[in-house]
Amino acid sequence: MPDFKHAAALGKAIAARQVSVREAAEQALKAIDRREPQLKAWITVDPEQVLRQADAVQRQIDQGINRSPLAGVPIAVKDNISTRGLRTTCGSRMLADYTPPFDATVATRLRQAGLVILGKTNLDEFAMGSTTETSWFGPTRNPWNPGHVPGGSSGGSAAATAAGQVTLALGSDTGGSIRQPCAWCGLTGLKPTYGTVSRYGLIAYASSLDQIGPMAVTAGDCRALYEIVAGPDSRDSTALPDSPLPADCKLRAWAGGDARGPLAGLVVGCLDDAAPVQPAVSAAMAAAARQLEALGAAVEPLKLTLLDEAVPAYYLIATAEASSNLARFDGIRYGYRPDDADVADVADYYAKGRSRGFGREVRRRILLGTFALSAGYYDAWYLQALKVRRLVCAGYDGALRRVDLILSPVSATTAPKLGASLADPLAMYQSDRYTVAANLTGLPALALPFGQDGLGLPVGLQLTGPSFSDRLLLAAGEHIQAAQPVARCGEVGV
Ligand code: GLN
Repeated sequence: MPDFKHAAALGKAIAARQVSVREAAEQALKAIDRREPQLKAWITVDPEQVLRQADAVQRQIDQGINRSPLAGVPIAVKDNISTRGLRTTCGSRMLADYTPPFDATVATRLRQAGLVILGKTNLDEFAMGSTTETSWFGPTRNPWNPGHVPGGSSGGSAAATAAGQVTLALGSDTGGSIRQPCAWCGLTGLKPTYGTVSRYGLIAYASSLDQIGPMAVTAGDCRALYEIVAGPDSRDSTALPDSPLPADCKLRAWAGGDARGPLAGLVVGCLDDAAPVQPAVSAAMAAAARQLEALGAAVEPLKLTLLDEAVPAYYLIATAEASSNLARFDGIRYGYRPDDADVADVADYYAKGRSRGFGREVRRRILLGTFALSAGYYDAWYLQALKVRRLVCAGYDGALRRVDLILSPVSATTAPKLGASLADPLAMYQSDRYTVAANLTGLPALALPFGQDGLGLPVGLQLTGPSFSDRLLLAAGEHIQAAQPVARCGEVGV
């Protein structure tokens, strides 16, 4: 069987009976076996379940009852998305033995569309981190260079896709966890508009920021996956029906490309930021601006205020929400239970269960969030952060009245070396400078690969648009990638 690099092509070959669903699944399982000892991208893979799913989907295709364009295509799912009968750990000792009795809505939609869930991918514990090193199951490595991290928190999904084990993955993004690992692994990934993809069954980190979204090599494959998972859901009251672009955004007046190019008529604001970025990142920004112009767009510099304040506001809001969301993991309702013989009373039971079940970073964040919400400190910290959030939203609303889309880095650097980030948590938090605003505002943001640095590690840039411009962002990504195909891991001499 040929090595299909794109989900769309594999889906077509399966529909045309050139490849069986079982063959596609077996090839993916073999690719996992080959690279897993080094990469550690997966927490759970159950080959028997995979082949059972594959045969069931093949029957549906043979009977003509499943005509989804991605039927039979294997997919990786981040291990904080609930999957019925398949262990879902959140990368934590707390949930190391937890098998959900139900599917997240996105998992149900994958199954209805005939995608084959290959297994669950590694992540920072409870999606808290930027490198996939806080996982209780150990770190994942970057397929472009295994001495470096893949990014996080959806690092397992990114590594599995970049290594060619799968063509598609789902991640979740609370402050950058789809976009940053996509950038560091040379992939395309969308943080959708808040509310366009159901969060039912996503184990919550910070509910007002969390979004599930697609990760793939190309924007075209991301679009195909987005179409499957997006849409309203009666089980998530924040999952919205398709809405028109907001009345006051500039993009609403865009009439589509013309003879000057597919992006003609679009004005792209190129973020002009004083904070230092790696030379390869500024070079990528300049190259992307030139490419956007070649496709017909007008590019102008754009200043955004409050970038310095967005990160602290994000970490106050995210940890405050996390401290509440993670209260359910008490060893009684859910989670790791200390040995009865080892506990004195109920307070000791909670203390031992939670301090052993959660890792260091998660404990740090629960403490920080509990502090920010506590009486006497609430006004000074949490309420202030909410005010900054409003101002960040107002800043972006204003910017998107002047320009149609915003081009910015995803991260100031390419992937750091394994072991270089955890010792200084504040520096790690600062590295989320360019990603957290999309979560604070709910805006959609697309990470796209744009070349490599001197070590051959990928650089990613981000396009942010107004609410509900997700499909347009993906289409812009497709035009960019039609002009310059994405370089794949292993094809650029690394
Ligand atoms: N790095 C950010 C954090 O640690 C983002 C994580 C995420 O998006 N899940 O909170």
